[in-house]
Amino acid sequence: MEYQSSLEFAQELDKNDPLKVYKEQFHLPKNADGTNMIYFTGNSLGLQPKTARAYIEQEMIDWQNLGVEGHFEGKNPWYYYHHFMENASAKLVGASPSEVVVMNTLTVNLHLMMISFYRPTKERFKILIESTAFPSDKYAVASQAAIHGFDPEQAVVDLKPRDGEETLRTDDILQKIKELGSSLALVMIGGVNYYTGQLFELEKITAAAHEAGAKCGFDLAHGVGNVPFQLHDWHVDFAVWCSYKYLNSGPGGVSGAFVHQKHGDNKEVLRLAGWWGNDEKTRFLMEDKFIPQSGAAGWQLSNAPILSMAAHRASLEIFENAGIENLREKSLKLTGFLEFLIDEFNSKKSNESINIITPRDPNQRGCQLSLLTGENGKTLFDSLTKNGVIADWREPNVIRIAPVPLYNTFEDCWRFVDILASATSTSSVT
Ligand SMILES: *Cc1c(COP(=O)(O)O)cnc(C)c1O
Repeated sequence: MEYQSSLEFAQELDKNDPLKVYKEQFHLPKNADGTNMIYFTGNSLGLQPKTARAYIEQEMIDWQNLGVEGHFEGKNPWYYYHHFMENASAKLVGASPSEVVVMNTLTVNLHLMMISFYRPTKERFKILIESTAFPSDKYAVASQAAIHGFDPEQAVVDLKPRDGEETLRTDDILQKIKELGSSLALVMIGGVNYYTGQLFELEKITAAAHEAGAKCGFDLAHGVGNVPFQLHDWHVDFAVWCSYKYLNSGPGGVSGAFVHQKHGDNKEVLRLAGWWGNDEKTRFLMEDKFIPQSGAAGWQLSNAPILSMAAHRASLEIFENAGIENLREKSLKLTGFLEFLIDEFNSKKSNESINIITPRDPNQRGCQLSLLTGENGKTLFDSLTKNGVIADWREPNVIRIAPVPLYNTFEDCWRFVDILASATSTSSVT
């Protein structure tokens, strides 16, 4: 698509945007003068859907009026609550409804999945992860290796970009998997890297892992609700994600997990068990023997956190209506426009350039652009904040910007780069 750098052009794109109505369905943080802030941190904490309050209120009312009877008599019976999110979650990750479950929180689910799918032996014990993985994931894989009696220094293998490069090449990842061969037990990387915004080629990576005889799982915290996936068709073994980033379900919101049918239907797969994973027909009989439900639901431990799940339902309904494929289509244009404006800005400025470290290929990224700033990076970031832009700063000098298609506009992108331009002309004088 051919872009132009004027405000009018941005406004025209917004006018013709078939998804423009969705912005109205969210509460946007405001500046002191009542205008909307430019919120570019949906990759960190998504905004509140206006419907979320009523969804939570409904469960408060049922609790108030029914007490324990709410489990079966509530408008949305709590006993079956996770089922209400299966269809929408399945569509987001390309799965059948029985392959997904909403439960717990993200790092907890990552551990639950690794308990089942990281089964190291003396020969095959290594875990491959990207060097810039989210710290929680690094702690998780290292501790799993240690629990099985391995030295994490040896068991956890970091995928590093080539010297002078910021992101990983697929061929290098595949090569590394091949190299590790029979020592590799698990490939566990972020589907979209939180730092660089790189979207990995999950299908190829999964195939290579399986070829090596290893399992393959992904942390989709930065992927779900951002880009569409086909986890079932790609034969991914497991995946986990959180609901509070692109999925807009509130701070500390519940997590989702995917377990491929080939494992989910196998009751012999070892897992940590809890009563909520037990067959629903016999769960309340309180018998001693654990009979797992088939599918991902068989990994549940505890009864569901209904209030948090209610907010998640509100958000998933919006995704159902908008459609992840439509959102991706807009997202490609929106991020492409932001990239174009930053390139324009760089071509005009000689003193302060902004280096985009996210892949330039739209198929290798979601909506986020990670901007490597110069020496004045922090000053620049602070002046963005002062001017009503909520972005994200990562030491030593990266600003992460995520224009999300549900509530960000082309005008937001234009205004952001306009503010950036005034901020750099000031920061270079001071
Ligand atoms: C946000 C994020 C987390 C956070 O984990 P919680 O258990 O939800 O606190 C973990 N991993 C990745 C890749 C993330 O992006």
